[in-house]
Amino acid sequence: MAAAPPGDGTGGARADTRLIELIMGLRNAGIRDTKVLAAIERVPRVNYVDAAQTGLAYADRALPIDCGQTISQPYIVAYMTEQLRLDPMFKVLEIGTGSGYQTAVLAQLCRRVYTIERYRTLLRQAERRFAASSLTNITAMAGDGNRGWGAQAPFDRILVTAAASERPLELIGQLVIGGLLIAPIEGAGGEQHLVRFTKTETAFSEEKLLPVRFVPLQPGIAKQD
Ligand code: SAH
Repeated sequence: MAAAPPGDGTGGARADTRLIELIMGLRNAGIRDTKVLAAIERVPRVNYVDAAQTGLAYADRALPIDCGQTISQPYIVAYMTEQLRLDPMFKVLEIGTGSGYQTAVLAQLCRRVYTIERYRTLLRQAERRFAASSLTNITAMAGDGNRGWGAQAPFDRILVTAAASERPLELIGQLVIGGLLIAPIEGAGGEQHLVRFTKTETAFSEEKLLPVRFVPLQPGIAKQD
């Protein structure tokens, strides 16, 4: 293992090469939005994975994190971020902070990100990471993401990063008219698809995007940590 220069926050030259390889892989896989690719490049994923996983930080795969959860695969993070069609003025809500990696990517591309996590352990870890990276446009809270964040609504965009078994109607209710919500939705057979909902004046429309595999969106706040 080559020694990493201290304090550069990315794990050294080797990690930089891996990050560049990851970005090239994302481009080859069809991610076209250069702002999204630049955001991924700016967020050192190595800071968001468990210490035991640092060697895999720039592999294009989901990895286990505390509390039996996962940090999403970079391709899926890039894809969802691209499909959200963000604007620098937007206020965005994320459900399922987890490692905080997706939150940090969103924070590069919009005005403010609100994020909700049901495990306090994960939330505290993520908040420490945001502070260490001086990401000051993120507000995080422990809570049940199914309820959204009424006090801060409406949101221009909402991203759910855990799989729901029903359409997230309460969250759609917290979007501006014309706002988008992307969520993995689980069908009767256990298969999951990303679905993009667009709020209209009177209701909403929906489009199916990719097949995916996310941990489930749980009811309520976690009883322990
Ligand atoms: N965006 C995260 C994904 C983490 S996995 C990342 O890339 O690291 C999904 C997360 O959703 C888990 O941390 C899980 O605890 C959280 N979660 C599940 N149900 C929830 C709910 N009802 N409210 C808030 N968070 C929830």
